[in-house]
Amino acid sequence: MKLIRHVIPVDINSEEKLMINSLNGIIDKISVPVYEIFRKWRGVEEIVPECEVEVALFESLKMRGYLSNSSKDEDVVKEKLVARLREISTKQREACRSITFIPSYNCNFRCPYCFEGENTLKKGNYDTRSSGCRIRIGW
Ligand code: SF4
Repeated sequence: MKLIRHVIPVDINSEEKLMINSLNGIIDKISVPVYEIFRKWRGVEEIVPECEVEVALFESLKMRGYLSNSSKDEDVVKEKLVARLREISTKQREACRSITFIPSYNCNFRCPYCFEGENTLKKGNYDTRSSGCRIRIGW
């Protein structure tokens, strides 16, 4: 078995990392020494654990979906997942019976992970005076 490619390692601090399995959504916190074993196995086609710690890690990774028999098997899993998400998205689109009005992109939530940056303050505000657009809704 080999490690799947769809794993995103994220630094937490100097001693720990998060491993995000993007095929099944599982997230694990691991120590840096364990991550070093993981790194050693990256790209290895047939992992052979060499000690008790590696055997335990191997079994744990297998149980939590970080291992696959081949890249082809991993791609099959990914394609099934993408097909399922497309199906859900299509159903949701077809079932959509609502309209969302976004009069402003301004936001003052200040989420620490915000990726919008200055965009939340500058762009795309709906100007009711100059747009000339009037909307009337009635049934
Ligand atoms: S992520 Fe950014 S734009 Fe979104 S709610 Fe948080 S602060 Fe606002």
